[in-house]
Amino acid sequence: MRCDLLAVGTELLLGQIVDTNSAWIATQLAAMGIDTMEQRTVGDNEERIVTALTEMLARADAVIVGGGLGPTQDDLTREALARLAGVPLRRRPELEAHIREVFAARGREMAVSNLRQADLPEGAAAIPNPFGTAPGIRLELGSGAGSLAGKVVYAVPGVPDEMRPMVTRHVLPDLVARSGTPAVIRSRSLRTWGVAESALAELIADRVEAQTNPTIAFLARGIEGIIVRITAKARDEREAGALLDAEEAVLRARLGDLCFGRDDETMESVVLDRLAARGWTLAVAESVTGGLVTARLTSVAGASRVLRGGVVAYATEVKRAVLGVRAERVVSGPAAVEMAAGVRRALGADVGIAITGVAGPELQEGRPVGTVWFGLALPGRPEESVTVRLPGDRERVRQFGAISLLNLLRLRLDADGGNPGP
Ligand code: ATP
Ligand code: MG
Repeated sequence: MRCDLLAVGTELLLGQIVDTNSAWIATQLAAMGIDTMEQRTVGDNEERIVTALTEMLARADAVIVGGGLGPTQDDLTREALARLAGVPLRRRPELEAHIREVFAARGREMAVSNLRQADLPEGAAAIPNPFGTAPGIRLELGSGAGSLAGKVVYAVPGVPDEMRPMVTRHVLPDLVARSGTPAVIRSRSLRTWGVAESALAELIADRVEAQTNPTIAFLARGIEGIIVRITAKARDEREAGALLDAEEAVLRARLGDLCFGRDDETMESVVLDRLAARGWTLAVAESVTGGLVTARLTSVAGASRVLRGGVVAYATEVKRAVLGVRAERVVSGPAAVEMAAGVRRALGADVGIAITGVAGPELQEGRPVGTVWFGLALPGRPEESVTVRLPGDRERVRQFGAISLLNLLRLRLDADGGNPGP
């Protein structure tokens, strides 16, 4: 099965945006073992979209077209597909109803041009769009397309957040089914934190080089770390599960404590699970992050089993009065420890964690921007502080600081041998 990619958009040709969509789709196809041999970009021009598709489909079994599905006059992918297939565009009442509903639900006036998004080439299927109005299109070419009959085109929106779920949920499974390869494809994500992609790649270079089935791909998630995704093809669910289990075991042994969880687990859900397994409660004291750590923890359903609460102690007097900080400098290791111990005491928790630091843009108490101290107060271990220098601007220091503190707590909980395992 060969599936090539066509990006549509004059913005792309002018260099105003970079075609990250094709890069992402290509990674997904590779993980599924589907070949891609050509990627093209054309402007918002019906003629050139049709020409490109005709040429590309002469060689590929399928093409994914990205962009040009919007409501404006320069969104021409629908028209191009109809011409390619030699069929008319037809308005679909159910799609029209959906578009009207989306606008009504947002309480917005709808321009009539939006209804163009309910027009599909005759014989095409709509790909649902959970995050927008324009559906994607799956079009299997018929006799109207001459020698291209039997080939298939998928059209997806240019907006990355709308495009991705369509590709994952609909396009890839459809391609796999068409390729006639074994029935099930299953993926598992190992979530890593605190390691650069290049270093990660080096740790498991031999596995990546040897990959055939399962395959291994890296997906960068910014401050949330890097996902190592394992994808297995098999005859049935059990065989796929066994392939994934075996590869996961090998990779986990290599990654050690860089791997904090899998699939839908997050740093905060993992920390909460670890604490719950021991029956421990948690209290958080935050200065520089202004509540980000507590916000992350409370985003997890069921956090109340573990989390007692958080104190945002920003002013020096608050650190002293509420948390009992005595250290001369309130942006320091000793202050971080006192904050952790103080919040644990004040909120009656088993574990106290704290963060204080300098987010910038100015120095504070003579400390450089990005300097952050973490404080930890856990049962059965000495209270401690850890300091790091985080890169980036104010927002990045705050976001990075918040997840770093959670990661530090995770590492300490695991080091105590209390890790109940997945
Ligand atoms: P819309 O409904 O927003 O008009 P569309 O399907 O018509 O969606 P485009 O108009 O081509 O898509 O692009 C919308 C936006 O999506 C662009 O402004 C750009 O930010 C982003 N985008 C489009 N194509 C790509 C691409 N290949 N890579 C990354 N981002 C893209
Ligand atoms: Mg558009």
